[in-house]
Amino acid sequence: MTWETVIGLEVHTQLATKTKIFSGASTQFGAEPNTQACAIDLAMPGTLPVLNEEALRMAVMFGLAIDADIGKISAFERKNYFYPDLPKGYQTTQLEKPIVLGGHVDIELADGSTKTIRIHHAHLEEDAGKSLHEDFHGMSGIDLNRAGTPLIEIVSEPDMNNADEALAFAKKLHGIVTSLNICDGIMAQGSMRFDVNVSVRQKGDELGTRTETKNLNSFRFMERAIKKEVERQIDLIEDGGKVLQETRLYDGDTDTARSMRSKEEANDYRYFPCPDLLPIEIDQAYIDAIKASLPELPEARHQRFMEQYQLSSYDAGVLGDDAATANFFETAVDHCGDAKLAANWVTGELAAKLNSQEMQIQQSPVSAEQLAALIKRISDNTVSNKMAREVFEAMWQGDGEGGNDPDAIIKARGLKQVSDSGAIETLVDEVIANSAKQVDNYRSADESKRPKMLGYFVGQIMKASKGQANPQQVNEILLTKLKELL
Ligand code: ADP
Ligand code: MG
Repeated sequence: MTWETVIGLEVHTQLATKTKIFSGASTQFGAEPNTQACAIDLAMPGTLPVLNEEALRMAVMFGLAIDADIGKISAFERKNYFYPDLPKGYQTTQLEKPIVLGGHVDIELADGSTKTIRIHHAHLEEDAGKSLHEDFHGMSGIDLNRAGTPLIEIVSEPDMNNADEALAFAKKLHGIVTSLNICDGIMAQGSMRFDVNVSVRQKGDELGTRTETKNLNSFRFMERAIKKEVERQIDLIEDGGKVLQETRLYDGDTDTARSMRSKEEANDYRYFPCPDLLPIEIDQAYIDAIKASLPELPEARHQRFMEQYQLSSYDAGVLGDDAATANFFETAVDHCGDAKLAANWVTGELAAKLNSQEMQIQQSPVSAEQLAALIKRISDNTVSNKMAREVFEAMWQGDGEGGNDPDAIIKARGLKQVSDSGAIETLVDEVIANSAKQVDNYRSADESKRPKMLGYFVGQIMKASKGQANPQQVNEILLTKLKELL
């Protein structure tokens, strides 16, 4: 049977306002628990919420960036439920009249083609507090600092057909909101959280029954959770079973998922219009002013990177889609002046390191300026690429002699490469003199075979220089000398 997967995403995106959506309390991450939730965030009797205009402005920015319609009149509802991290007893959210309607996000597929993912809507709402289950010896801790943090919940149409597309969509959204500067994009701090709706069907059939896996806070977990759920559903149906519409939880640490509640037990939220907040009415001039001030978006930056830095479309995408990566790259180029080398290092060594440690570029222990300082030492031939990788490793660890400073590390480890052509010439002469047999072979070999035979000589020369000779110079000098012998 040929199965088709169908995926729709709901994405909670924390807006990067200084204060909460309905109060003046700080949204700063990492404060002492329960020091940043004020009486309004907890809806204490006698308090009244007031909408933070900055949150509204950011939601409108998002809507304009994805070509959506902006609701000229939008309104808040109360979604009622009880949970320890929601002492208000309801979440203030938008249901009937969201601020952002429609729109689309275009993703690039592996084969280079583009696919449009439609957005159903995005609405403004407040975040809840957080329940902490670790470190409390069988009890739960409640931290209400996050209560009232502004969110937009972005709801896609079920337009994705596999985990790769969902991942591309999630990353594209991440790139858009970080480029707009309306979200810091730090997943480890919960700034973007994904709920994935997954169903399977036979190609051409009606949509299958979906499950929803909630609150995935990393791209990797999202990808794994989707793949696992698709497999589970297919196995279930092929064994004669039926998929139940349910909410599921995925645990990234153990790579396991379980059912949380079924449709029958689904909460009845008894939504009703929030009596404390007036509907929001905005005019076209307000929208136009925001439109005129939108910053550069990922697609435009992608194009600019190709033109300005002569990058391949692939590299321009890797570097330009995410705002933090783009900033890192451009800062490095500003400081070292070599876009090609900077692109290689950011997409190569640095990306590999970040990946292996599941870190985002904002968390890199090597700053853009420090990487640029290292790149300069490659450009001016102080170190070879190979040595530079050793220096980079030391910079990343940062605790050895020289700390994060490439020059200090190069000095401490005696890594300077030999670029003195006289010294290299001597080495080349020595190796040629000691390799009579190989030189003979080289001479008598077919012209087309010769380039392959250079490896032996280069290897000997590099060995003789203890790895410190400039490889490019070695190659050039060696070729000249061998030519003289032909
Ligand atoms: P509800 O009203 O129950 O929340 P929605 O229609 O709002 O359901 O859909 C919620 C999310 O689920 C959306 O992102 C949507 O694209 C997705 N979705 C809906 N039906 C399916 C399906 N059959 N398979 C996969 N995703 C789906
Ligand atoms: Mg819904």
